[in-house]
Amino acid sequence: MAKRDYYEVLGVARGASEDELKKAYRKLAMKHHPDRNRDDKEAEAKFKECSEAYEVLKDAEKRAAYDRYGHAAFEGGMGGGGGGGGNPFGGSGFEDIFEQMFGFGGGGGRQRQGQAAGRGADLRTEVQITLEEAFAGAKQTVRVQTGVQCDACNGSGSEGGSTAAQTCGTCGGAGKVRAQQGFFLIERACPTCGGSGRVVKNPCKVCQGAGRVQRERTLNVTIPAGVEDGTRIRLTGEGEAGLRGAPSGDLYVDVGILPHSIFQRDGANIYVRVPLRMTQAALGEAVEVPVIDGGRARVTIPAGTQSGDQFRLRGKGFSVLRSAARGDMYVQVAVETPQNLSARQRELLEEFEAEAAERAKSSPESEGFFAKVREFWEGLGR
Ligand SMILES: [Zn+2]
Ligand SMILES: [Zn+2]
Repeated sequence: MAKRDYYEVLGVARGASEDELKKAYRKLAMKHHPDRNRDDKEAEAKFKECSEAYEVLKDAEKRAAYDRYGHAAFEGGMGGGGGGGGNPFGGSGFEDIFEQMFGFGGGGGRQRQGQAAGRGADLRTEVQITLEEAFAGAKQTVRVQTGVQCDACNGSGSEGGSTAAQTCGTCGGAGKVRAQQGFFLIERACPTCGGSGRVVKNPCKVCQGAGRVQRERTLNVTIPAGVEDGTRIRLTGEGEAGLRGAPSGDLYVDVGILPHSIFQRDGANIYVRVPLRMTQAALGEAVEVPVIDGGRARVTIPAGTQSGDQFRLRGKGFSVLRSAARGDMYVQVAVETPQNLSARQRELLEEFEAEAAERAKSSPESEGFFAKVREFWEGLGR
């Protein structure tokens, strides 16, 4: 099941006020509360769904993040490989992942790490994985062109790593300088120290005193089973190296899932369209269908199956992120009308048709339709 939009879950408009959110949530929470709906799995799921939606939307910062990134705001951060069972949002897991993503809350101060002077830039890259990989989880290698610590000076920026950096004379260590521009006083990064507030007397020749050099890095990314298309994974500290030993930025890996030739995914469920010959659908037959895990499943197609009929195979669907559970697989039948008939086939079908015309209820839908058509014309007196 695809994750529903939080506003949709609460039944409010995107611009809803805090009060409206609270009211909508209370109403739903009362209705679906486990105390009132004992042993009702659906109510329990609804209760969790609306609680989760409210948990995010009631918090201005989380709401802003959700408005911007959608559910992806709270996914990812799974560099260490997910798995394990249980409720994905149970305990503190939900908060943790969120805080990792955005650097909110927790401990001292709300300031983002990104504001540290000279911190390396955050980087973004993409990986494309197959649906099978999204199902089972995958290890992928990404290559990024980035600034890495200079080995010659150990990132210090000074020749041979000998002398320590000194306070920048231009900005007095503030990292910023002010300049008059017309009426305005503009503040910008100090051109001498690049914003770090420190300079080196005897700059390293390899990195010209920056403490970092450009290089291509190869990184391994663990993609957890059950990821959605567009999930963003954060690798803390794997972004650009900081200036002269300042903290590194983070690397964000956006996961794209390639379309599959057989399976269609909708959240935890999988759909397979199985074309059957007209005769198979009419006579009934056990057919073997593929499963996303690479296995096979048998589906008994009963005699008289129609195009569009759907059969559910429980637990044969997609993996669920941070859970051992699996969704269901739906086998959707499409009956194919035969083409390119041999003379013998044609003869058999003509014989079949002569018989079918005499036999009532062998094609009830078509019979019903043409009965209505006759009534329609008669009603018009034609
Ligand atoms: Zn260097
Ligand atoms: Zn400076």
